[in-house]
Amino acid sequence: MNYSIFCSKCGKEREEKTQWRCICGAPFDIALNIKFDKEKIIRSCKSIWRYKHYFPYVKRDKIITLGEGCTPITKLDDNLWIKLDYLMPTGSYKDRGSSTLVSSLCSESDIIKGLSEDSSGNAGASLAAYCARANIKLKVFVPKSTSGPKLSQIKAYGAEVFRVEGTREDVSKMAQRAMKDHLYVGHVWHPFFRDGIRTLLYEVAEQTGWRMFDKIYVPVSAGTLLLGVISGIKHLLSSDIINKVPRIIAVQTRQVSPLYHRMEKLSYVPPESIKTVADALVSTNPPLLDLMEKNLREVDGGSEVVDEEEIVSSYYALAKKGFHVEPSSAVTYAAYLKQLAKGGFSEKEKVLLILTGTGLKSPMKSFRNNKVLL
Ligand SMILES: [Zn+2]
Repeated sequence: MNYSIFCSKCGKEREEKTQWRCICGAPFDIALNIKFDKEKIIRSCKSIWRYKHYFPYVKRDKIITLGEGCTPITKLDDNLWIKLDYLMPTGSYKDRGSSTLVSSLCSESDIIKGLSEDSSGNAGASLAAYCARANIKLKVFVPKSTSGPKLSQIKAYGAEVFRVEGTREDVSKMAQRAMKDHLYVGHVWHPFFRDGIRTLLYEVAEQTGWRMFDKIYVPVSAGTLLLGVISGIKHLLSSDIINKVPRIIAVQTRQVSPLYHRMEKLSYVPPESIKTVADALVSTNPPLLDLMEKNLREVDGGSEVVDEEEIVSSYYALAKKGFHVEPSSAVTYAAYLKQLAKGGFSEKEKVLLILTGTGLKSPMKSFRNNKVLL
């Protein structure tokens, strides 16, 4: 086998295709036994599937695609670039994972009656689009606070939406409850979703002529983006394609910052209720936290935390430069500006911010009085 699916904690291999986590309760990981070879890139394909060779668990005739990936990198300022990963079929980087998840499920089984998923909005909308394309029924569980545009988008693709009171974790528990004919495939848990995100890093490497940036700022909530990016780095390193590890900076909001606290060896007590403009960053107790900490330390990454005022001003600063992204993406610019102000950047350091979701999905609301400003 050129890949294996195993528990990230006890090492036990996945036994059933319907399993979305190990019987010990920990998330699965995928080990790839194929070296990255630039010659195997399908250059005529302008989507993530140009890297099909590195997704051996997807059958070629079972690929479900909407043309996701190959997003541009453009310069924002001196030594500062942005990857516009919100230029995706559903307006979010999650399309990378949805495409690999639905394609892999279709590869493993000819009959999928229905799926269920929990999401703060973007992943639900993304999975709904890919399920629509594959003609699969989907139930999406979202927090009550999920923004109007994201809800409309999920419904437009034909998925059934359930709004749940409580924390992000309560939403997840609701979706996991066994439902007749609806297999739970939560994107946070499912290894086939997370694994698709490594295409983002392959693209960055290809776009820089395999030279790579010195620093990459990544917004972090449930951890799928962070782990996908690190997985891509590790694959290219072990294949001798790149010889430099970019310093990965995991960015969180002050309210929702469990990873930041872990990295700084501080205790984290989440607020009773989350009131943030960054409505995609709401995982106070993410199940991938141990994996995130382990992987971020392995690549000698760092973390940063930003306040609401900093997010709002960075959101407008990006928009004034022509880039309208959701506040949850603007956190990367906020963290960059914060660290730049502190000093410590060398003159030649090349920095990349990952911008993950379009601004059309989350109308900017004042975090003080909930008044819509745009
Ligand atoms: Zn286990």
